[in-house]
Amino acid sequence: MLHRAGRFIFIVACVMFAVAGARAQAPMAKPDLGKLADEAQVWLGDLVRINSVNPPGNEAAVAKYISAIFQKEGISYEVIEMAPGRSIVVARLQAGPLPDPANALLLVAHQDTVGVDTKKWTVDPFAANIRDGYMYGRGSIDDKAMLTANIATMVELKRTGARLARDVVFLATDDEEQGGSASIKVTIEKYWNKIACAYALNEGGRVMVKDGKVQYVGVQASEKVAYNVTVTATGQSGHGSLPRPDNAVVHLAAAVEKLGTYQVPAQPSTITLRYFEQLSKIEDDDIAKWMRALEQPERADLAVKHLADESPMWNSMLRDTIAPTILEAGVRVNVVPSEATANLNIRLLPGHSIEELMGQFVKIVNDPQIKFQLAPDSGENAPPSDLKSPLFQTIERLTPQEFPGAITVPLLGTGATDSASLRLHKVQAYGLEPFPLIENDSSRVHADDERIPVDSFHKGVVFLYHVVSDFASTK
Ligand SMILES: [Zn+2]
Repeated sequence: MLHRAGRFIFIVACVMFAVAGARAQAPMAKPDLGKLADEAQVWLGDLVRINSVNPPGNEAAVAKYISAIFQKEGISYEVIEMAPGRSIVVARLQAGPLPDPANALLLVAHQDTVGVDTKKWTVDPFAANIRDGYMYGRGSIDDKAMLTANIATMVELKRTGARLARDVVFLATDDEEQGGSASIKVTIEKYWNKIACAYALNEGGRVMVKDGKVQYVGVQASEKVAYNVTVTATGQSGHGSLPRPDNAVVHLAAAVEKLGTYQVPAQPSTITLRYFEQLSKIEDDDIAKWMRALEQPERADLAVKHLADESPMWNSMLRDTIAPTILEAGVRVNVVPSEATANLNIRLLPGHSIEELMGQFVKIVNDPQIKFQLAPDSGENAPPSDLKSPLFQTIERLTPQEFPGAITVPLLGTGATDSASLRLHKVQAYGLEPFPLIENDSSRVHADDERIPVDSFHKGVVFLYHVVSDFASTK
């Protein structure tokens, strides 16, 4: 008996060894990316049909849908409830027997969307209708396209038995559009060990199409920081028939005029200089010459002026900006109010100090009736990601293979994304929105009739898979 049992164990051990050996040597199954993109299109349609407008978000319904896919594909995952009706999904494909955060790549996308003004839409925003080659719907780009491409990448890596040198971690976040108690900031605070990574790919980049051709792949490597400052003017209240020089409305209006037209001196960062240097290779010469002049000391000021006049986005990339957004004063037509307030929405270049700028405000306005107060809702002031990291280099190398003739351009995002929170955790985070889009389609994000060209969605799924599988296969 003993002998036979021993032999049995020995045989089992041999079989196990043979299986393990066969697995180690088995060629990876060839990815079928055409089929994957077709499946992903079905998932995207289903995700658009789940209304996850924030507030309230309702991300738990999205999380449930994603879980079902991972369950079916045998990908181990975890659903974590952040608040009632709000869940995140975390999954990890591991390179070795233990998680290896020091080399891991995180794929992150948010499950919530902004709201809709239904009357202005020409289609049902939650039907995922396909019309003239476009899929329409809230979230069809922002950010359910990226979310779906991330799901598809995980699925294909798993199906093909990809040999990974780095862990690939999946995170579907909540509350990106409002940044409240279920946001990535809270996820990082509470569950960092579950998503720990060294690199991340997120929304915020762009694959720019012009004249029917991909011009460049813009990779967001840094972002501006949002602040709100309340400007308060006080004066004596009284009857409208007896105006006085200390009228709060007049003092506020003068202050808003001075601050709203004030141009903070330009201070282009390394990323912005590199952006213009790269872009100058593909732009028409009348604008390209100013892009090249940015680093010539005697022409830099004129270059800033030309570029800032050409595009509000370029202006915002070059300097801190101040936009008055709300004015409030008065309750009766014949009463001079004692107080008038304005909100300034301020976007600082990362690393700049809001206190310093507010110190400037006092001098610019030079009015003792005006006071400034910083609102508590400021953004995350994070350092930029490295333009020489292996992940950035992978994207640079794959760009012309995917889109012949296209170049990689680093971007300083003028808006805010989840990447800032990750960068504050020493993650090299990049915005790579992999879908080729023309300006008109990109500008529908957060607007009416958001839509994605079906063909671009397919290309983006394939591009993201190539970037992730290439980067994760070596270290
Ligand atoms: Zn988004």
